[in-house]
Amino acid sequence: MDRRSFLVKSSLASAGGMLWLQSNMLSARGGEEEFQVYVAEAPPYALDALEPFIDQKTMEIHFNFHHKAYTKNLNTALQSSAEQYRKWPLEKLFAEMDRLPDPLKTAIRNQGGGHWNHNFFWKCMIGPPQAKAPQGKLADLISRDLGGLDNFKKELTTSALSVFGSGWVWLVWNGVKIEILKTPNQENPLMNRPENNLFPLLGIDVWEHAYYLKCQNRRAEYLENFWKVINWDFVASNLPA
Ligand code: MN
Repeated sequence: MDRRSFLVKSSLASAGGMLWLQSNMLSARGGEEEFQVYVAEAPPYALDALEPFIDQKTMEIHFNFHHKAYTKNLNTALQSSAEQYRKWPLEKLFAEMDRLPDPLKTAIRNQGGGHWNHNFFWKCMIGPPQAKAPQGKLADLISRDLGGLDNFKKELTTSALSVFGSGWVWLVWNGVKIEILKTPNQENPLMNRPENNLFPLLGIDVWEHAYYLKCQNRRAEYLENFWKVINWDFVASNLPA
């Protein structure tokens, strides 16, 4: 499958991103067909599906304005970067981030991170009737490495509350065990890791834009609500086989 059919195929999974992709693909034609054009993938559920835990208005603004802006800015930055970088997968740009020339490096860190992190974040959640407890291998790892589900929740919450300003909290597989880590701003565990040895399993957006409309400054309340809509099947699917 060539890259263009891959992009078209990816976009079919996301009706929300479809029109946006088409308009951008048109502008990418004219001898530039090899270049990546990224798409803000819509959440794989209705924007009111996470009610009452994550409200519809927050989801609408978060996806339509914050997420899409990161994606648009990423595409703009790549359009004006050297041709070689436009052909790299985003994961490679992340892995080699600190070796990139500015201003591309800054754009990959902020806009590339914002684009990828939100595509991932939406899939980490599911409507409350479907949300259930971790099972199988994931449940075993949570017991073995994090002292069980209750302790994991406690540590994840403590970690998220300790993010100063804006950032993310992650559950990752590091090749040996699962662990919790934090990143500032829109950085993620794939950045500056040419060995590619961290696998993000779960990402939690702790920017105020993720919760301010409903919870105002109460990040702990947002985390309590987020916990109720985690898509554990998706988290488990991110473990390497
Ligand atoms: Mn966000």
